[in-house]
Amino acid sequence: MFTNLDTPVEFLKGIGTKRAEILKKELNVFTFYDLLQYFPYKYVDKSKFYTIAEIQHYPNTYIQIKGYITDMSVVGQNKAKRLVANFHDTTGKIQLVWFNNIKYIQESLKRNTSYIVFGKPVLFNNSLNITHPEIRAENEENTQALIPFQPFYNTSEKMKKNSLDSKKISRLLYQLLLEVKEKIIENLPSYILEKLNFIDRRTAFINIHFPQTQQLLKQATDRLKFEEMFFLQLSLLQSHIKNVKNNKGYLMPKVGKMFHEFYAHYLPFPLTDAQKRVIKEIRADFISGNQMNRLLQGDVGSGKTITAVLLMLIVIDNGFQCCLMAPTEILAAQHYSGICKLLEKMDIQIELLTGSTKASKRKTLLPDVENGNVKILIGTHALAEDTVLFHKLGFVVIDEQHRFGVEQRAKLWKKSLSPPHVLVMTATPIPRTLSMTVYGDLDLSVIDQLPVGRKPILTKHFYQHNRDRITYFLKEEINKGRQIYVVFPLIKESETMDFRNLMEGYETFKIDFPEPHYKISCVHGKLNQEEKNTEMQKFLNRETQIMLATTVIEVGIDVPNASVMVIENAERFGLSQLHQLRGRVGRGTDQSYCILLTDVKLTADSRKRIQAMVETNDGFKIADYDLKLRGPGDITGTKQSGMMDFKLINIIEDEKIITTCRNIANSILTEDPQLKNPENTILRDYLSYMKNKHTDYYQIG
Ligand code: ADP
Ligand code: MG
Repeated sequence: MFTNLDTPVEFLKGIGTKRAEILKKELNVFTFYDLLQYFPYKYVDKSKFYTIAEIQHYPNTYIQIKGYITDMSVVGQNKAKRLVANFHDTTGKIQLVWFNNIKYIQESLKRNTSYIVFGKPVLFNNSLNITHPEIRAENEENTQALIPFQPFYNTSEKMKKNSLDSKKISRLLYQLLLEVKEKIIENLPSYILEKLNFIDRRTAFINIHFPQTQQLLKQATDRLKFEEMFFLQLSLLQSHIKNVKNNKGYLMPKVGKMFHEFYAHYLPFPLTDAQKRVIKEIRADFISGNQMNRLLQGDVGSGKTITAVLLMLIVIDNGFQCCLMAPTEILAAQHYSGICKLLEKMDIQIELLTGSTKASKRKTLLPDVENGNVKILIGTHALAEDTVLFHKLGFVVIDEQHRFGVEQRAKLWKKSLSPPHVLVMTATPIPRTLSMTVYGDLDLSVIDQLPVGRKPILTKHFYQHNRDRITYFLKEEINKGRQIYVVFPLIKESETMDFRNLMEGYETFKIDFPEPHYKISCVHGKLNQEEKNTEMQKFLNRETQIMLATTVIEVGIDVPNASVMVIENAERFGLSQLHQLRGRVGRGTDQSYCILLTDVKLTADSRKRIQAMVETNDGFKIADYDLKLRGPGDITGTKQSGMMDFKLINIIEDEKIITTCRNIANSILTEDPQLKNPENTILRDYLSYMKNKHTDYYQIG
């Protein structure tokens, strides 16, 4: 029944095939319903009149004035030819200017008639004028005059060229609402409408485009925001419940020999309370009989890896295999060597599989995975390849999730008869609203505590021309036996430029830190994997004291002796990237430092990022800040998929609405998981309509 608005837009009077094509391309508007959901970005109050004297104070904003034309004339030549009318009220004068339809307008305008003019005054040659104003006689009957608020719609250049400007879109919507308003059907049951005091859906759509009053506009917005988020939550939670129900999770009741042996003899440090709590939470999932899908959040350095390893031991104790998927080869290799070292005294076969694993190695490795000898397989997305078959995969750990697509997650699931338990680890704490949305189908655990003895990292901002002071400071640190990272930005568009930056930096460092006293490692994109690993290894073994690199070390690399992170051109990094980089130091017990080097000239945004870094070490604060600066699509990597393209919801500001949506969806589904109760049929119908319409969006998890 919701399909009755799926009529293609070209059938709306005034659109036609060419404009329809443009609407599809530019706005993703295909149907009447899509167009109804193309909401204005602002409204101008047309119930208010300004005097000409007043508008001097409001240049560049849309206003409405009332007055008379005293005289008009055509001036200028060719392209500059225009009609200029002097327009007066009792307080002053303004010029109205038209470049198009000059003749027609000149003939239709009359002197000494009271006109209402609507437009945007701009300052030109020291006086205000309005180009192409809307103008109508005060006594003229006019549908638009009945609209107290003028809606404004975003339009692209291409749209404007094809006369699809804001005004035209507004007219189209007016027309559309006239034609189809009877077809706008309620999609929320009356008990929700009553509970939240919502206006009905038809009134909401009419008033979000053409609000009768400010209050109705707010009511319309609230209601439509709610439905935008509510159905997404309903869908996410429903698929979560379905997964829990359908995916009988592997039972792993035992805490056995492997876990106990490691815990008693080889655990290198006591766990933090937060780590212990998370292990308990996940243990509960292992014995619940349901399949776990859990997000593990913990700031850089909070010790997610060891937590995952302990859980892997429980999984192995119960006769299952584990895999750990990392976003880059370097990180996978580091996890591999780190975990091998942790478990070296234990009899557990651990293997590494990445894109660069040689065919000869694969020949023995893959069968070993398939017959179950390999208990822990570590790798990159290569793990998801079809050739990788497990004997009994029980536990999948995904590190730094935000770089993986939803599809990869799904692909790993299919590697087992029943889907394995899945733990997604992320170091970038995600603001709550966002995790409820993007990861709405996951449970959440948080390691909100750093290991004891960590001193907060001191972060300082320096300009490039203060290098000498930094060089001096770095030498002091090296003389104390510490190691130093120096990171150069990586510009995707220009690999050669990156390389040059890094190489120039390398030359400078070689002069400032001469051999044989100082030794420098340099890792960059032109090295092959083996060469990179050699350089990294040298740094790990303390053969070199300085590690120069592009962002390859952004995630993962773990050298507790490194105490200084120098970030060159820090203004070119994103906030969460900077925070990640900083997390590479401060892992030992020494005081660590993060030095942000920038140009003197900084954009306002860069300055804010640098300031945030200097002010706080708190990953949650950084994440909130980042979300505000960059927007959600960028952060979750879902920009392309359009998943974060909400029409009305603002992930940052609408936390309350999002929480309400989630709570209501939750309570409905607890009572009626399949939405079978008669009062919920309406929800089920609309949800299935939406799932059909947005296959990518509503079928996560
Ligand atoms: P992240 O959460 O960023 O992945 P890691 O798991 O790499 O952090 O851990 C960071 C460092 O802290 C590692 O050197 C690890 O050995 C160490 N570590 C982890 N847990 C503890 C703990 N409870 N006490 C002391 N050091 C710890
Ligand atoms: Mg990590």
